[in-house]
Amino acid sequence: MSEDSIHDNPYIKVTYQKDKGRSIFSKVFIPRGTVVFVDNPYIANIDSLYKKNICSTCFKYFSETCRPNVVVCPQCNDYYFCSSFCKQYQKNETRHSSIECEWLQYFGNYFKHQLLEDDKNIVLLLLKIIAKRIHQNDSLSFIVDNDNSKNTDTNDSYNLVPRDVTDLIDHLDEYLSLGINNSETIEQQQQNPDTSITDSDMDISKLKSIWKSDFKKFINISRVIQHIIDRSKHQEILSVGIDSDGDMIMSENNDIENTIQTESLSKSDLNILKLLCKVRSNFFGLWHNGLQNNIVEYNRGGTPNTENDTDSNTTTTTTEHQKNIEFLWCGSAVYLSLSLFNHSCFPNCTTLLEYNNGENGVFSFNYTKTPLRFSIVTLFDIEPNQELFITYIPLNQNKKERNHQLKSSWLFECNCKRCELEQTKSKEIDELFNSVCCRNVKCKSGMVFPLANGYGVCRVCKDEFKSPTSINLDVL
Ligand SMILES: [Zn+2]
Ligand SMILES: [Zn+2]
Ligand SMILES: [Zn+2]
Ligand SMILES: [Zn+2]
Repeated sequence: MSEDSIHDNPYIKVTYQKDKGRSIFSKVFIPRGTVVFVDNPYIANIDSLYKKNICSTCFKYFSETCRPNVVVCPQCNDYYFCSSFCKQYQKNETRHSSIECEWLQYFGNYFKHQLLEDDKNIVLLLLKIIAKRIHQNDSLSFIVDNDNSKNTDTNDSYNLVPRDVTDLIDHLDEYLSLGINNSETIEQQQQNPDTSITDSDMDISKLKSIWKSDFKKFINISRVIQHIIDRSKHQEILSVGIDSDGDMIMSENNDIENTIQTESLSKSDLNILKLLCKVRSNFFGLWHNGLQNNIVEYNRGGTPNTENDTDSNTTTTTTEHQKNIEFLWCGSAVYLSLSLFNHSCFPNCTTLLEYNNGENGVFSFNYTKTPLRFSIVTLFDIEPNQELFITYIPLNQNKKERNHQLKSSWLFECNCKRCELEQTKSKEIDELFNSVCCRNVKCKSGMVFPLANGYGVCRVCKDEFKSPTSINLDVL
């Protein structure tokens, strides 16, 4: 299999579906446990909370008390490596360029303490992308209509595969069409209860309110980014397609909550918003159980999978050793080709990160491998011409919770088989789903990943289980 290429992949092909856009289908029968695709991140960044504990290059965890070789960037004092080796041999997707270094210093002085953690991290991720593009002389215009999803020629898979971050789907138009003026808040709605409002009306108005407040936040973030970039004289990004009336000046006391109107967005705002929306629709949270094994796992956005399910009947304590399943959300990454895999709440594939942890738990970093290379692996046998799915969210939630999360963050309604069958056969589908999930009481979240010996392993807690002998997935 050729790395990073879907075109000559023996297992899968990209097709275009009218209702869903780009999708991945099987070309042939694929046995469960097959690695069908691998990809390296376009960009990856450690969250500010864990910067001091995780190497930016190799993602090795170092504790407060054991850091003899740790090196910090002497300019910004805000970028850490496990060793001078990792500082010297940085990777394209995590490179700490001098441009980024300068921005981090400014960011640390003026904005770091004003922003919430999540917003701070998305700013840092975007700055890293822009610094990378300046470093590589890539285009800084994100407004250009590069929407490959409009290409409906199913034979032309080359044009369906994103080759740059500009090719990623964003939902900026949907956000813009909401309008952001005179938005009613949830609190205001609750003060005026109207008994004729149905559950789904309420859901929609709640969602609109979430989307609007998200979008206001995006505008704020885009202004912060423009402010940082502007100062260090990289004017090209701020002058992309700008009219003679130019940019809005951002004042630090700007009361964005009340004053922003769609019409007042400059083209420079829209340019950064476009990039922000692309990243937000496509980034993955990087999970690290640093205290345990130096293993990085990841899930797309969402919350950690560590909640116990309320249904205790199906759980059996199959293991005496209770493993530490405290995961840190330590960073985020954008993978270009991962966006081709659609979501299902009962996916037939999972994502796995390769992380070279060396022999016997002794860390040995092999520079030829990237620690953040992901693989897509099949969880079940897949017949020819079936769609391959992954999940974007934790799956141990009920249908309402899952759909709320998908709609609020990815703006789509899930119509997967599990969601469909939950209407009529909720008990059966629950049992079927639980039978393929981790049975560790403290974890019980991951779908069990098939091993060759008739066992399966939980990708989250690493417990092993005997695979169910009679599992009938025909209903899916
Ligand atoms: Zn390192
Ligand atoms: Zn620096
Ligand atoms: Zn679903
Ligand atoms: Zn588990």
